[in-house]
Amino acid sequence: MKHLAPDYVYTPAGLQRNTCIAISDDGIIDSIFDLETHAIAPTNVDALPGIALLPGFVNVHSHVFQRALRGHTHRPLSSKDTFWTWRNAMYAEAQRLTPETLYTLAQKTYQEMLAAGYSSVGEFHYVHHQPGGQPYAEPNAMSEAILEAGREAGIRVVLLMTAYAQAGFQQAPEEGQRRFCDDSVEAYLARVEALRSKGVPVGVAPHSIRAVPEHWFRAVADYSRTYHLPLHVHADEQIAEIEQCQAVYGCTPIELLERFGALGPGTTIIHATHANDTEIGLLAQHRSTVCVCPTTEGDLGDGIAPYAELLAANIPLCIGSDSNTRLDPIEELRWAEYSARMRYQRRRVLVADEMGSPGPLLLDYGTQSGARALGLQTGVIAPGLPADFIGVDVNHPAMAGWYSDDFLDVLFFGASSEVITQTWVGGRKVSGK
Ligand SMILES: [Zn+2]
Repeated sequence: MKHLAPDYVYTPAGLQRNTCIAISDDGIIDSIFDLETHAIAPTNVDALPGIALLPGFVNVHSHVFQRALRGHTHRPLSSKDTFWTWRNAMYAEAQRLTPETLYTLAQKTYQEMLAAGYSSVGEFHYVHHQPGGQPYAEPNAMSEAILEAGREAGIRVVLLMTAYAQAGFQQAPEEGQRRFCDDSVEAYLARVEALRSKGVPVGVAPHSIRAVPEHWFRAVADYSRTYHLPLHVHADEQIAEIEQCQAVYGCTPIELLERFGALGPGTTIIHATHANDTEIGLLAQHRSTVCVCPTTEGDLGDGIAPYAELLAANIPLCIGSDSNTRLDPIEELRWAEYSARMRYQRRRVLVADEMGSPGPLLLDYGTQSGARALGLQTGVIAPGLPADFIGVDVNHPAMAGWYSDDFLDVLFFGASSEVITQTWVGGRKVSGK
């Protein structure tokens, strides 16, 4: 048993002083108690002076290899740059990857995530095969490279295995997409099954309504229900996707997902930037989640999600660093609220109740809500859950002037991940001093 005694601990009851956390040898929180009133003083207490421990942030949506594009796609790629011209640059990057280079890039990026305060990541992984589309001798070689990088860095990885079949509605894959594609949904599910049988935490991820046809969607959704796996899918990020969907199916992407049986409590829609009221109603009806990725959505010019309508419909939100153009959960969450303020031209949009401030809800989006979307039992500091924490330096200049009742607002609106000086996963300090 290990004991940590930071100056403060953020539990579901709020910010606590003089609190000790007992952690079992297998990295689970055993108990949380008041050091001053506890009957027997524990031996071997590790004091963490000047630190407030909060639950580690959960990064629900990452394409780790896109970290290599950071800063390199802002020069002209065409006469009018959009998501689609950026995508060509991303495909070129994806073409270059090997299991070895992917491992190295993922390992460094996961270390960067940990340093920024993410203790878990949902890796939406789609670069599966050799550049021409031929499987590697080990069909999950690229997945294994990511998992090994995660283990080496010390981050908790949920591998969201992406299903990819085609370039667009009834169109064969383009050259740059071949290595994303399996020959059949059975071949894809066999690779998922192989990882599951090794105990790898996995989810299924039909890439988008563009990339996956109906019978694949149905098979993947059935599989996720049978084995209680999260199902993640991109939808409504770009207007062009909605127009194509309307032209082919006469409905919007989220309506199509419902028609294909892909909505449910285990479903997370990535982006939902242009979701309309009907689609939001469907998400509420099926108790699905939305993952917003504000820094990437800003970088790619996607638009601003309908935050107020999603909140009013009680749809859980969570966050992802997506293209990893920035890795900072505080910034990601701040931009959810700031972009919502710009969309609605008012302040305090993401609040749990009218008299509240955004801090507590932003923390929930960044931790518990994200954990649920990945099927993880983490995201809160409570007995019985993994000891996944971040340590915030409460004496950092950016935090100066905080009170216990506005600590989270000072954190989210006044600071960045530079105030996070340590990250713990499963009771082990994996980043920081
Ligand atoms: Zn994505």
